[in-house]
Amino acid sequence: CGIVGYVGGQSAQDVVVAGLKRLEYRGYDSAGVAVLADGGLAGAKKAGKLLNLEKELKDRPLPAGNTGVGHTRWATHGGPTDVNAHPHLDNAGRVAVVHNGIIENFAALREELAGRGHELASETDTEVVAHLLAEAYSSAGDLAEAMRQVCRRLHGAFTLVAVHADAPDTVVGARRNSPLVVGVGDGEMFLASDVAAFIAHTRDAIELGQDQVVELSRDGATVTGFDGLPADVHAYHVDWDASA
Ligand code: GLU
Repeated sequence: CGIVGYVGGQSAQDVVVAGLKRLEYRGYDSAGVAVLADGGLAGAKKAGKLLNLEKELKDRPLPAGNTGVGHTRWATHGGPTDVNAHPHLDNAGRVAVVHNGIIENFAALREELAGRGHELASETDTEVVAHLLAEAYSSAGDLAEAMRQVCRRLHGAFTLVAVHADAPDTVVGARRNSPLVVGVGDGEMFLASDVAAFIAHTRDAIELGQDQVVELSRDGATVTGFDGLPADVHAYHVDWDASA
C-alpha cells in the first residue's frame, strides 16, 4: 500500500523506514525493506506493524547501503505473513521488488516461470516480477530496459520499484494505474507512492504518467514509456504544508 525507494548519500534503510512511517496512514498489514550493500542485497520483512520490522532491524542490523526500497503491504494475494511480505527476490537473491496493486495474469506467469525451473517462495502475485526481472536483466544488461520488457507482459494495476545487486546506485520504478512520484534531491533521489514519504528531504517532485518507467541515479531521473520512447513528465513543486 506504500512504496519508498532511495538512492543517495544517506543510509537507505533509515530514509526508507522513515518514509514508510509517513505512509502508515494508508493502512497495511506487513512491511519490509531491502538495501544494496557489499555487492549484494540485504533485507528484512515482517508481518504486522512497522514496529515489528524496526525491532527485527535492531536485532539483526542490515549492512550499510545507500540504495534501497521499502514497502507496506495490504495483502490481496496470499495472507499477511513474513514470507508474503515484500520485497520479493529472484532465486539468486540479486533482485528485490516491491509492488502495490494486482498483477492479474500472475498465475500464467508463475506456471511459465516454474516451467523454466524457477522456485517461487510466496503466494503473492508480486513475486513473478522479481523472477521475470532477473531473467530480463541477464539478457538486457540494463535495469530500466528489463523493467520495460517485464511491464509489457503484465496485466492489471501496479506500481513497481526494484533494485538489482549488479546495478549499484540505481533504482527503477514503473507505473500503471497506481500513483508513483519521484522526489528530486541534491545528490539523492526518491521514489514513493505519495510525496509525504520524502517531503522531509525535498519538495521538488516529478509525477510519473501512465505506463512509464523511471530510472533513478543519485543525480537524476530518466523517464520513458513502457515502449522505451522518451516520455513527457510533469515536474512540480510541493507547496502544501506536509510537515504536520
Ligand atoms: N498484490 C500484492 C500483494 O498482495 C500487493 C498488495 C499491495 O498493494 O500492498 O502482495
